[in-house]
Amino acid sequence: MRLVLVGPPGAGKGTQAEFIAAHLSVPKISTGDIFRANVSQGTPLGVEAKRYMDAGKLVPDEVTINMVRGRLAEPDAAEGFLLDGFPRTTPQAAALDKLLADLGTALDVVLELVVDDDEVIRRLSGRRTCRGCGKIWHVEFDATTRDGICDRCGAELFQRDDDKPETIAARLREYAEKTAPLVDYYGAQGKLVGIDATGPVEDVTVRAIDALR
Ligand code: ADP
Ligand code: ADP
Ligand code: ADP
Repeated sequence: MRLVLVGPPGAGKGTQAEFIAAHLSVPKISTGDIFRANVSQGTPLGVEAKRYMDAGKLVPDEVTINMVRGRLAEPDAAEGFLLDGFPRTTPQAAALDKLLADLGTALDVVLELVVDDDEVIRRLSGRRTCRGCGKIWHVEFDATTRDGICDRCGAELFQRDDDKPETIAARLREYAEKTAPLVDYYGAQGKLVGIDATGPVEDVTVRAIDALR
């Protein structure tokens, strides 16, 4: 299956992507994770992306599309994939359609995680990520994070630089302006399925998997 997850920053895309990708046996491709890996490795791509990420802005389409084109050409993505955080603009969506059409294929479904603004801000403000295994936690909702240690692998948890209040506000503006239009774009293609992404993580996963049947 070729699947895209959309929703505002903090909707739970990364959290759900892990479970849904495992359920579907497809690779999870997260553009945010790939950019962050490049930032921490100090690659030229990372140096360029960091300027935008720190400001809560989207990385330019051309850079992002080229990166995704390279990733989708890897053998593990040939039979299916779950894209988390891409596309995020109408030009990115059009480029993805073109790329897949050239390969003789197309997206199957776009799953929208629906969460209101207040909940998104609460989720982003308390987000913590494991330095070891990448598992996403929340300081308030996951009691086991109080010691700052990952309950799955024992490594240290950190707060993302872009989860500060000023940057959160900028990211939500970018979302409203540039990403929200994708709901209409994929709605017009008949590919959009929206689910309520509030409530316990496990309940959202069940709704997501039901919606994909
Ligand atoms: P979140 O999960 O909170 O929405 P991501 O990890 O997906 O955040 O993205 C973090 C940052 O990486 C974004 O604010 C943006 O700067 C950059 N980024 C990720 N994906 C894209 C994309 N498809 N287009 C442009 N920039 C992106
Ligand atoms: P290249 O293969 O030319 O080095 P890539 O964009 O494929 O460029 O990968 C750059 C770096 O991003 C890699 O070193 C890898 O660690 C990281 N990376 C690639 N794909 C992923 C992914 N799906 N999730 C997280 N990190 C990734
Ligand atoms: P996104 O990738 O869309 O930015 P994340 O998956 O990183 O979102 O989740 C943002 C924050 O919200 C994380 O701290 C995560 O632990 C938390 N979170 C995710 N899903 C839920 C949920 N159903 N209920 C409460 N908190 C959640």
